[in-house]
Amino acid sequence: MNTSYDFIIIGAGIAGMSLAYSLSTSDSSFLIIHSPNKPSASSIASGLINPIAGKRLETVADFDELYKISSAFYSQIAQLHRKENYYECKEILRIFRNEKEKETFHKKYQQDHSSIYVGPSFEQADSLDINGVKTPFGGFITKNAAVFSYQKFLQDAHDNFKANMVEALVDYSTIQHNPESCTIHIHEYTISCKHLVFCDGWHSSYNSLFSNIAFEPAKGEICLIKAPDLQQDYVISNSFAIIPKGNQLFSCSATFAWNDYSDSPTEIGKTELISRIDELLSCNWHMIDHKAGIRPTMFDRKAIIGFHPEFNNIAVFGGLGTKGALWAPKLADLTKSLLLGEKPYIPHDISVSRWWLNT
Ligand SMILES: Cc1cc2nc3c(=O)[nH]c(=O)nc-3n(C[C@H](O)[C@H](O)[C@H](O)COP(=O)(O)OP(=O)(O)OC[C@H]3O[C@@H](n4cnc5c(N)ncnc54)[C@H](O)[C@@H]3O)c2cc1C
Repeated sequence: MNTSYDFIIIGAGIAGMSLAYSLSTSDSSFLIIHSPNKPSASSIASGLINPIAGKRLETVADFDELYKISSAFYSQIAQLHRKENYYECKEILRIFRNEKEKETFHKKYQQDHSSIYVGPSFEQADSLDINGVKTPFGGFITKNAAVFSYQKFLQDAHDNFKANMVEALVDYSTIQHNPESCTIHIHEYTISCKHLVFCDGWHSSYNSLFSNIAFEPAKGEICLIKAPDLQQDYVISNSFAIIPKGNQLFSCSATFAWNDYSDSPTEIGKTELISRIDELLSCNWHMIDHKAGIRPTMFDRKAIIGFHPEFNNIAVFGGLGTKGALWAPKLADLTKSLLLGEKPYIPHDISVSRWWLNT
């Protein structure tokens, strides 16, 4: 193993691997360190890319631009590996949970027929020839959504960068750094780099270098169900989503909890998943698998990228929250430019330095 690199990336989830693809177009050398003892949210995420998110039915900021960048990025990588695209366009059958949501929708979108994300509204799903779905308050079709396969992407990325990767748990208290280099101790090696980049997901919240930053990790539980009579044509969602995965299987995603940082699935989570699925489906289904992970969510729900304001060879790329699949490609490219000294413009609301302003 080499012991000197231009960059060391800690983390091999969607952030670390997107950055690896971006850096691979430059001449720089890099090592990616990751650890099975620090599970990755990316390895379990369901991959929904939804232009109209949440109970307030807001259109996601910059969705059009981010969608174009991310779909092009993932298509290019799929072509490189001669694989099927990781990205599948799907419409969402967005079901209102109550009268209030229905009103919100009509207030927001009835006048605005220009939204490219809003399709027809409906009272009953069977008017669309869809069976097995409960629609007590009706709903609407969300257009231009997609489902991204995190797991296939990561599998191919890990295969592709095998020679650049090492499995090890980095003890952050042993990292040494000075303006010229950073040094990490893993296994029996001492490895140095010009720049160290943390792509470590919610684990950044334990990194004393970034103690200024208000992380707010959110645990999520998710399950896989089999529903033989449910069609695979649409994602079904009332902000909790049932996502077709082929072969009568559906990924059901997800719960939110803010005080539990274990990545084990819980009975409380399972009960909530069952109740959310029953709220949406009238057809038969049964659970096949149940998992949990921690989203790297920030207090202000924005991503975070940039160099540490005091140490200009230590960077972070994270805070991807619930939108890793949509945000990672653009932010990976920005992080690459930053690392290569191209001085890209980083908007204040996603810059690391926003957390240092008041110190
Ligand atoms: C239940 C659930 C459902 C989700 N659904 C969606 C969805 O539908 N759509 C969507 O876009 N997003 C979804 N997300 C969010 C998505 O998972 C995240 O936005 C994204 O995966 C974050 O990626 P990341 O690379 O920043 O972090 P992670 O994927 O968590 O990766 C962190 C990496 O850092 C490594 N690491 C950490 N600490 C150390 C250390 N000390 N030493 C070595 N390695 C270390 C880990 O091993 C891992 O490789 C969901 C998340 C959850 C939990």
